Order: sequence, then structure tokens, then C-alpha cells
Amino acid sequence: NPRVLCLGEILFDCLADQLGLTLEEVKSWTPYPGGAPANVACALVKLGTSAGFIGAVGEDDPGNQLVKLLEEVGVDITGVQRHSTAPTRQVYVVRDLAGDRSFAGFGEYDTSEFADTRLQGQKLPESLFENADFLVLGTLELAYPESEQAIHRALKLAEQYDLKIILDVNWRPVFWQDLNIPRQKILALLKQVDFLKLSQEEAQWLFDTSDPGAITYRLGSIEGVLVTKGEHGCTYCLGENEGHLPSYAVNVVDTTGAGDSFLAGFIHQLIEHGLQGLQNATTAQRIVAYANAVGALTTIKPGAIASQPTAAEVQAFLASHKI
Ligand code: ATP
Repeated sequence: NPRVLCLGEILFDCLADQLGLTLEEVKSWTPYPGGAPANVACALVKLGTSAGFIGAVGEDDPGNQLVKLLEEVGVDITGVQRHSTAPTRQVYVVRDLAGDRSFAGFGEYDTSEFADTRLQGQKLPESLFENADFLVLGTLELAYPESEQAIHRALKLAEQYDLKIILDVNWRPVFWQDLNIPRQKILALLKQVDFLKLSQEEAQWLFDTSDPGAITYRLGSIEGVLVTKGEHGCTYCLGENEGHLPSYAVNVVDTTGAGDSFLAGFIHQLIEHGLQGLQNATTAQRIVAYANAVGALTTIKPGAIASQPTAAEVQAFLASHKI
């Protein structure tokens, strides 16, 4: 039985092989498996914490490949739904001459046509929730009516079976058809969230501040807020403990999925130390340092999932890199 359930999108990021070209000019693409909640599930399993993925893919080749990948990593797939006609989500990403990415399109589809938008709430396996301790959510599936209902059903089950809810805001405007809605929806969802991870930009957008102490005060009942800042590390408020830890200096190759690995590292440590660990300033700092290390190690190899470290690799890295 997985201890952590990760609900949301799993997809192929199709990256342009040629740099500095537009969508129409690119000659070939390389697909990389991704989707934030799926990345978190894989990263957890690699660290040694059992995880299940809940989401929907099509009955197509990309869907088969993604399910196979989850199985190979060891992620529980009881919660994966297959849609008979809607295709597995794919996103096309172009790169400028420096290698920096930008969204280029959804191929022949509209964002609301993909299988992940059709996740069925009534088909969520209740037994998964009965036996888990954490539910990890993103916000993409709030953008579509069916998957939004599935999120709300998952929240009900999480409440019924006493799971802690962790939200990674991970806001991507391109997935939304009406940009007036998401801020209100995310703020409403936050009333039920126990741990919140967001970037500095997302924090400014939602709360007009990137200070996790101020965000905690504003939200009232939340147990932890982590504001990640890429190469500048992470500022946190966990229980009574506030602080900032710089990131580790590494030779960066590809930062895709660093945030997802960071979150997996945090959850893995939360399980290891127990929630009471957050009451102790040194333990809280250790937990965040571990998460920073998992994030940093994910940047030194290409890909979001292939680059995720094992627990042994994180231990070795931490032993040679003091805070
Ligand atoms: P993404 O959505 O791309 O996964 P994110 O915004 O959720 O990213 P980041 O803030 O980019 O998350 O990264 C999360 C953590 O990973 C950082 O707090 C840091 O510890 C580590 N990290 C990210 N980029 C770097 C880097 N260039 N060098 C070292 N560590 C990094």
C-alpha cells in the first residue's frame, strides 16, 4: 500500500531538438516523460518511500509508455485510468539558443481534449486512501470540470481517511482557458491544504508576498509553507520554525523537475522524522537541506525522472556538502 498518493497530470514533454527555432521551423522533437505529480511519485519511490500515481492517460502508445515507466520505477498504478478516445497529454516546448525553454503548443489538440482532463472522481480507488498518509496535488486539473470534480472527491476521501494534503501550486497559465478563475480556485483549495510548496513568483501572485511566515499567518491553519527559489534555495516556515537555506552549488545540466524532486525529498524526510520533527528547529532545517539536495542532484543530469537520485546518492552528497 503506497503511503503517498500523487494526483494529477502525467504527460510527454516534446522538446525541440534544434535550438532557436519556432514551432513551425523545428525539424524533430524528443519526448520526455513528465507531469509534476508523476515526477513526485517517481522521485519518492527512488528515495525509498512508497507512492501511487492517480491520473488519466489515453488508450494510446504514449499512454502505454507512461504506464510502463511508472511500473518500472515501482509506482503503484491502481489509480491510473485509461480513456478510450481522449489522447494522452503532450506538450511541445521550443528552446532558444541558450537552451531556455518556452511553451510552443499542444500539437493537433486543444488543452481541454487530453485524457487527464477526464479523470473520473467516482472511479478513484477508496482503498488507496484508506491506507495512505499523504495526498499530493497540483493545480492543473482544477482547469477542467471533470478532473476538478476528481480533485474534490480526492479531498473528501483524504479528509475521511485523515491524509495530510500537500499542494504544489505549479501554476502554468497555458493550461487555462479563462485566466480570471485560477487564483480564486487555488485560494479556495488552500483552505484544506496542510503543506504548501510554491515558487517566489507564485507566492507574489497569490499572496503579494513571498515570505512563508506571512503566508502561514494569512492561511491560519497550515502546517508548513516552502517557497523555492531555484538556484537561490528555499525559504520556509514549518511549525514555529522559519528560515532560509541556500541551494547547493552543482554543475547544472537541466533543471526540469527539480521542484518535484525537492518536494519528494521533503515528504520522504517528513515521513522519516514524523510530523513532530517540524517542531524542532534543527530537524526542520535538516528536512529542508535534504529536499534541497534532492532538487540539486536532479539538475546535474538531463530529464525530470531519469535524473532523480536514490537515497544512497543523497546521503553521499550530503556527507560531502555541509549546510
Ligand atoms: P520546476 O517547476 O521547474 O520543477 P520549481 O519552481 O518548482 O521548479 P525550483 O525553485 O526551480 O522549483 O527548484 C526547487 C529546488 O531545487 C530549489 O529550492 C533548489 O534546492 C533546487 N534547485 C533548483 N535549481 C537549482 C540549481 N540551479 N542549482 C542547485 N539547486 C537547484
